[in-house]
Amino acid sequence: MNKYDSEKMAGMLRKYNYSLTPDLNSADVVLLNTCSIREKAEQKVFSKLGRIKKYKVKNPNLVIGVGGCVGQISSKAILKRAPYVDLVFGTLNIHRLPSLLETASKGNAAVSEIFSEAEQYLEDYPISRKSGIQAWVSIMHGCNNYCSYCVVPYTRGREISRKCNDILNEIKVLSQHGYKEVTLLGQNVNSYGKGTEEGITFPGLLEKINEIPGIERIRFVTSHPKDFSKELIRVIKNFDKVCEQIHLPAQSGSNKILSLMNRKYSLKDYMEKINTLKSSISGVALSTDIIVGFPGETKQDFQATIDLITKIEFDSIFLFNFSPRPETVAAKLPGQVNEKIKQKRFNTLLDLQKGITLKLNKRLEGKNVDILVEGKSKTNLDKLTGRTRTNKIVNFTVRAGTAAKLKLNTSADGDEIFQKEIGSEVSNAGKGYLTGKIVPVKIVRSGLYSLDGQVIN
Ligand code: SF4
Repeated sequence: MNKYDSEKMAGMLRKYNYSLTPDLNSADVVLLNTCSIREKAEQKVFSKLGRIKKYKVKNPNLVIGVGGCVGQISSKAILKRAPYVDLVFGTLNIHRLPSLLETASKGNAAVSEIFSEAEQYLEDYPISRKSGIQAWVSIMHGCNNYCSYCVVPYTRGREISRKCNDILNEIKVLSQHGYKEVTLLGQNVNSYGKGTEEGITFPGLLEKINEIPGIERIRFVTSHPKDFSKELIRVIKNFDKVCEQIHLPAQSGSNKILSLMNRKYSLKDYMEKINTLKSSISGVALSTDIIVGFPGETKQDFQATIDLITKIEFDSIFLFNFSPRPETVAAKLPGQVNEKIKQKRFNTLLDLQKGITLKLNKRLEGKNVDILVEGKSKTNLDKLTGRTRTNKIVNFTVRAGTAAKLKLNTSADGDEIFQKEIGSEVSNAGKGYLTGKIVPVKIVRSGLYSLDGQVIN
């Protein structure tokens, strides 16, 4: 969500004749888009500000701005600890950025603007997207769930769904510009549409997006297990563009901890949904989030999480040590777990998951998969890279036994395009471009983080 917000900021500023620079020495404005989901991320903001300060000494006209979730909840602390900051703005003030920047650059005093709620979903952001193939598309913002550990309801406000037609129009335009994949974003996408006049549900939205020509793959994050419906499973199964890759955050395998987290589902509910997903959708890839060392987590509770991971065999998990966040209920709960114990438990789960991921990836060796090509592999320039429908990274050669000969072209807007030499057996009717195409690849080797393959003739 933060990366998507950064794309919005870049798009808006581009409209006002700013351009991006990797060189801080030549910057007129430096914006930090911040995250406060964990304490460490918040600390990083202040250490980064400390490093940026020297550029302000060299160039007193430099405008330093802080946005995002830390800006939203800690604006006063930012201006106190870093008085050289010129602008602090909240997550719901992004649309005001150009005018806030203008005020900040003209005045002597710091500008701070934080809206605590939005009345409606704001449209017409000129988004400057990094990829020309895959796009994030927000379908809602905010959250009404108040999980006891989470700061999001305080940083992003109450849940507001975007109008269905606005989403569809954005995706149609993306398709016309050659985008092939969209990832729908929301804090809890399963509750999309609640309270809207249109009365549309999330599965209904997916059905409509599935009809848009040119879009080949649809993904979504994040789902809440309590709202993950049978209807959604039916749509994932029956609508071909909706990828069989589901991120369903479990957070813990212990009912006691789930209740303390205010997650509103039990281990049994969660397992039932996972079992239905596995039995209904062939080859479904599952991932989850786990919080380690939540207050009150005993050895037995931790063992229940180990059992959950062992039983389900997720393709991947995102592990987090519990981090007490301001304003949240969990920060004040008794039984805070010692940091050393947290880290030991974290390492145990990490090792367990590495074994599972490798085992599942090994099963793909010898199988044929469809890859949406993203471009050149970062680790091997002779290879291309892309993802399976289940979101696994595959680096691959184009012809057996030889490295693909690739020419690097640069398109007018600076995006890199990789072209195989003329005569390629996968050259797509002579165009020669593979980036953005879906190609069949045979998996020849699998590792923990990526797979190796070779295009099938
Ligand atoms: S559903 Fe997600 S975003 Fe909302 S409070 Fe819970 S963890 Fe935070």
